[in-house]
Amino acid sequence: DVRHGPILYLEDVSVSFDGFQAINGLNLTIDDGELRCIIGPNGAGKTTMMDIITGKTRPDTGQVWFGSRHNLLALDEPQIANLGIGRKFQKPTVFEALDVTENLELAMAGERRVWKTLLARLDHEGQARIDEVLETIGLNDERYRLAGVLSHGQKQWLEIGMLLMQRPRLLLVDEPVAGMTEPEMHRTAELLTRLAGQQSVVVVEHDMGFVRSIARQVTVLHQGSVLAEGSMDAVSSDPRVIEVYLGG
Ligand code: ADP
Repeated sequence: DVRHGPILYLEDVSVSFDGFQAINGLNLTIDDGELRCIIGPNGAGKTTMMDIITGKTRPDTGQVWFGSRHNLLALDEPQIANLGIGRKFQKPTVFEALDVTENLELAMAGERRVWKTLLARLDHEGQARIDEVLETIGLNDERYRLAGVLSHGQKQWLEIGMLLMQRPRLLLVDEPVAGMTEPEMHRTAELLTRLAGQQSVVVVEHDMGFVRSIARQVTVLHQGSVLAEGSMDAVSSDPRVIEVYLGG
């Protein structure tokens, strides 16, 4: 199913902190169903860019659109999350004392947790969604294990599953493979690639081998704006990119 048109659109976005220009005339377009990797040296503005998309940071100037209708700068953080933008931070934040299924139930319940969780348990649609997500993240056999005893990789997949419970349209994922073993990285590449068929996925990642293994499109940020964009082969042979990475 080929989809068209941008799901996310940043135009000429800038923000400075105490006179330091962290984002400087940034333009970025993410297409519906796309898997995009964002790379760039430390301080390039990757985290700030994610903060702007989710409404955590307000840009000084520029525009941020979700789909063709939603001006994200007119919305606050919860409203943006409710539109279907899910963010996964680097460190997994699962509920360690609960089992895998309970973590997914809580994620489905969202804000009004307690009673909605009870209702969700009785709800066939909710059960079906949990089964579907367990299958997607590959934790079917772990469904009754406590999240606290899962491996680091399994916790990361569970947290992605928790975001999927809300059926997001755009997933923002921060350094998903930091601290993972090779086989875990391999499975994560496979998972993110598969997810991108269902929703758009933006991944910030430092591990170039991993980026190469998943990315169709790579955006290189440098000093708060786009330095290069294209396939991993194209950007990694770009002299400007080589210079910022090798500190030329
Ligand atoms: P990256 O994620 O690519 O490493 P960041 O977006 O974290 O880059 O940071 C870009 C620059 O903005 C850095 O120099 C950082 O110190 C600065 N910065 C980010 N957030 C703040 C803030 N809240 N206050 C002051 N400076 C900030």
